Parts: sequence; structure tokens; C-alpha cells
Amino acid sequence: MMPAPHAPNLKDHSLEVLRQRLAAEGLPGYRADQIAGWLYGRGVDDLHEMTDLGRDLRKDLARRWEARALEIVHTEQSLDGTLKGVLRAADGALLEAVLIPEEERTTLCVSTQVGCPLACSFCATGAMGLTRNLRTSEIVDQICRMRELLPAGRRISNVVFMGMGEPLLNLSNVLEAVRILLHPKAFGLAPRRVTVSTSGVVPKIAELLEQVPVNLAVSLHATTDAVRDVLVPLNRRFPLAELFGALRRLPRLSRRHPIFFEYTLMAGVNDREEDAGRLVTLLRGLPAKVNLIPMNPHTDAPYRPPAPEVASHFMGLLVRGGLTTTLRRSRGQDIDAACGQLANRRRTGA
Ligand code: SAH
Ligand code: SF4
Repeated sequence: MMPAPHAPNLKDHSLEVLRQRLAAEGLPGYRADQIAGWLYGRGVDDLHEMTDLGRDLRKDLARRWEARALEIVHTEQSLDGTLKGVLRAADGALLEAVLIPEEERTTLCVSTQVGCPLACSFCATGAMGLTRNLRTSEIVDQICRMRELLPAGRRISNVVFMGMGEPLLNLSNVLEAVRILLHPKAFGLAPRRVTVSTSGVVPKIAELLEQVPVNLAVSLHATTDAVRDVLVPLNRRFPLAELFGALRRLPRLSRRHPIFFEYTLMAGVNDREEDAGRLVTLLRGLPAKVNLIPMNPHTDAPYRPPAPEVASHFMGLLVRGGLTTTLRRSRGQDIDAACGQLANRRRTGA
């Protein structure tokens, strides 16, 4: 049975906070560790099955706490193995998560909001507008539900906050979810296996990295304010000079801890030689890695990917300029699961 929309949920809290909450109910701290072991280690979220808690305690906890936040309502598998899940929250809101199995790792791309308020002109999620922020339990449960779809022996090794929504506009819930991802008694992921992507909510970037040691990805997409104002309207509030001022002031930057820059290549918009030249200048002196993503076309945006030879020429210019660059192969395009295509299209009738 799905919980009532606002019932307290065990997955809303990091272990530290859960310990405090349970202490307030008169329970010792190790109970939080036991519960986390079931929820995240063993993947059990029925309190009645947590056998080391004792029958009365289980019943008592189940009266006050929920442990499930999402149900999978639909899955779609791409020809390349990418698996998109459509998940429903207790209030009926629909969101999407994408599993990307590769040889040496399995990445889950999670959503942080239902829709997104930032209206980037090339992004299908942006065209939906914002419905609401996701709760921590709804972020974390994307991992619990989606990993149930993996074949035995495979586990989620990497989590990227690159699904629907802007993580830094839901920072407190994202931080609490990251703490659950990193805690050794919960998912126990190494910090370098978790990446949070932002379109450039400048005042929140330092706060994110002060709180959790994750990788930062910045969705750049343009090298002039004129072009970025159109692609990422947030640039009008936080233009390039402010964004890069803040990035250059970040502590802990080093070759081992670079900033990842996402750059969606759009034919005739940001894929020219001048753009590559300006990108090299803009990133000079920053430990940076550039991920080029050819535009994934969809009906809500007028942009197209460049021809493959234009994309590889662009990449070559960056590499010659000294930038570590990858040209990302698009995954899951045939099922609208690729970057920027998450929009619950079928269910909204579009
Ligand atoms: N809101 C955050 C994270 C989610 S978007 C952000 O913007 O960073 C994840 C990535 O997909 C971002 O880099 C985004 O710019 C990119 N993206 C959005 N629409 C796309 C599209 N149609 N084709 C390719 N990449 C796209
Ligand atoms: Fe929101 Fe990111 Fe899409 Fe922009 S690219 S509309 S910030 S989800």
C-alpha cells in the first residue's frame, strides 16, 4: 500500500538525523543503523520484515513511519541496454530515473524535482515547468526501486543527479539524499562516484561542496552571455563572469578533483570554431573536464545535433587547447531517456 503523501518516512533522513529522531522516541542509536541496514543494504522496506527489531517495536514503528516513497509504474528498455523507469509518488506525481549499465559500472541518473522551473530552451524537462520539489525519500527511493530491476550480481556503482530538475534549487533534500548515498551503513558509495549537476545556481555551489564531497558538474553550453542567456535563462541572473568567479574561488579544486563541464552541442548555435576557442580561454587554469553531449532532439526544442564530423572537430580543438574532453555517446535516445528528454511525454499526452 502506498503511504499518505505527508507521512513521516524513514528515508527522509540521513543516519545522523534518524538517530536523533528515534532517540526522541526513546530508542537507542543502534536502531537507526539496523534500520538503515535493512532499507539500503538489504533492500527491505517493510518494517514487519526487519526481524532483529523485535515484534512490538516493528509494529510500533510501522504505525508511525513509512519506508516506501515510490512505485514503478512503467519501464522501457533501450536498444543499448539503458532502462528508463517512470515512478509514481504518493500524491500521484510522476518522475523518471534512468539506469545506464556499462561494462565496468552501472550508473543511475536520478531526478530531484518534478519538472524544472529554469526553462532551458533545449531541455524537455524545462518545457514542463515546475510541479514540486522531491522529498529526500523520493530521491533515495529511485535507487531502491531501480536497483530491483538489475540482474543478480549487478549493483548501482555511480549516481548522477542529472535527471529531472535542478538539484541546487532543492538543496537541503539533495544534501540529505547524498549523505544517505555516502554513509557506509547506508549505500556506502565513494564520494567520487556521486555527481551533482547544476545549470549554475551560483549562491548554492559552494554550500553544496562544503557540505558533501561529491563531484560537481556545471551545465555550461555556451561561451558568451548572449548565447547562454537564450539557452539557459538563469544566466541572466548569474552571468558567466559571476559563475566563473564563484568556481575559481572554490576550495579543494585540483587535478584529482576537477569540475565537470557539460556542453550540449547544437548545430549552428554553439558548435563553431570560435566557440571552441572561447571555451579553451574560459576554462584556462581551472582543473576542468569537458563532457560534450550532442543535442538530443525532441519536439519541444528547435535545436539539432551537429554532424558527427563537426562534433569530433570541435572536440579536437578543445583537446589541442589542453582540455580533457569526452564526446559522450548518447544513451537511451530511442526511448526518450537521454539527457534532457525526461518529460513524461506520453502521460502528458504530448
Ligand atoms: N538541472 C541540472 C541537471 C539536470 S539536466 C542541469 O541542468 O545541470 C542534465 C544535463 O542534460 C544537463 O547538462 C543539461 O543541460 C543536459 N540537457 C538538457 N537537455 C538536453 C538535450 N535535449 N540534449 C542533450 N543534453 C541536454
Ligand atoms: Fe532544468 Fe537542467 Fe533542464 Fe535547465 S537543463 S531546464 S536546469 S533540468
